Amino acid sequence: MLKKVTALSILAAVLGLGLTVPASYAQVSNETPDFSGKSPADFAAEETMKEVAIGGVPMGRWKEGLLFEGISPQPWLTSAANWLPGTEEVQPDEMRITFMGTAPMLRPGQMNTSIYVELGNGDTFIFDMGEGAVANYLASGIPINRLNDIFLSHLHVDHFGSLPWVYAFGAWSGRWHEPLRITGPSGRTEKDGVSYMVEGMKQMMHWHREAFSVFPVAWEIEVNEFDFADAGGTAYEKNGVKVIHWPASHAKDGASGYRLDWNGLSFCFTGDTRPNTLDIDYCKGVDVMISETQPEVVAISSGVQGVPPFVGRYTIDTHHTPSYAAGYVFDKVQPRIAMTTHMPYDPYINAETIAEIREHWKGPFHFGAPDMVVVNVTKESIWVRDGVIPDYPNVRAPNADASIQKYGGLIVPTPTYQREDIQSQFIRDAEIDPDLYYPEGYKPVLMEHWPTDKPIFIPEELVPESMKSTSKQKSD
Ligand SMILES: [Zn+2]
Ligand SMILES: [Zn+2]
Repeated sequence: MLKKVTALSILAAVLGLGLTVPASYAQVSNETPDFSGKSPADFAAEETMKEVAIGGVPMGRWKEGLLFEGISPQPWLTSAANWLPGTEEVQPDEMRITFMGTAPMLRPGQMNTSIYVELGNGDTFIFDMGEGAVANYLASGIPINRLNDIFLSHLHVDHFGSLPWVYAFGAWSGRWHEPLRITGPSGRTEKDGVSYMVEGMKQMMHWHREAFSVFPVAWEIEVNEFDFADAGGTAYEKNGVKVIHWPASHAKDGASGYRLDWNGLSFCFTGDTRPNTLDIDYCKGVDVMISETQPEVVAISSGVQGVPPFVGRYTIDTHHTPSYAAGYVFDKVQPRIAMTTHMPYDPYINAETIAEIREHWKGPFHFGAPDMVVVNVTKESIWVRDGVIPDYPNVRAPNADASIQKYGGLIVPTPTYQREDIQSQFIRDAEIDPDLYYPEGYKPVLMEHWPTDKPIFIPEELVPESMKSTSKQKSD
């Protein structure tokens, strides 16, 4: 009825005809309306009510923006807008992907590349561990000693720069009963493979490893180096999870792309690469495809961020995936959602990047940048949100699950050294006597020596709750 009046009014206006406005339209009431005592006939017809109340997006009235088939928030999310640490558990049939680092250039909102994959079976995986990304992992509430099972796409430092920190502080923070596990490609020579890098890292960290050996620590690293040329080879297979790899074209032998499959869900990550047919072959039919991309506005970018245009041009054309190409590859792969990462997330570039990707790819798309983009993936739907983390979070307690499961309690290993073993006496002689600075009655009981030369067994009931996994999947 209202529609007819409105149409008639417009027609009348167009024709220049006068139209009597109903008196009730012309009056603005100063009173709060009172609907009590009204009968159903006083309200809009049920058909109209349903159209208004339950006929909207994403229930089928129309599609808008990212709301393609199968792109909708899952019912258990505490918010469809934001993810917050510690508020949601990964569901038994769910895969959750978080972008912990998203750019080759470091800046506060974009750490170096790292993608965190959590599965409903409790397994977690890290694809690349770029500089600074560890800050986002810790802010997300992940214990330091759970930063493990790291897959490296290649050995550019923006893809593994956090490793020394993870190695040392994970050892200090409870990674006592399992090695740090690192998987990555070989190279053309022995020196180009991931094993050689790890040996070099150990040497670089000689002082640090000795110094931290006054603590309970474990320094084992398990390296799984696969043949970089073995396209489609298995990098990992355990617990229903399979990770395959293939060569990426990144100006030097020894760069890889990865795909993970579990429980009918999958994601692939191209690593750093020129667009290539292997990505199309091995990502085919994947749920979430993550491609690196470099926007091709090299002249504009040079004015903004200072990289000379010829350096930008040459870097892209020998190492990286232009956004037109990312869209081209997405279209061949037909993922349920396509994402780009390893990109500057800048308002002056983003629209251009999307326009280039849209040249070929018309399906669901979301930036895998800036940091803390969170993707929930199930067979029914996929949803992407911004994760919100505090600026000044504190680290979570080390996780003692591995020790409890193996030994029925937490075993604290014996430090290799006391201070006397690695520090000259004259330096400690110069320390100020604590009695001089602690006020009377405030002096703590000092622990200047590790109290035993035997490992310490703490039975499960005495292990602090904060050191046990709160995840049902992990404790079951
Ligand atoms: Zn890179
Ligand atoms: Zn690279």
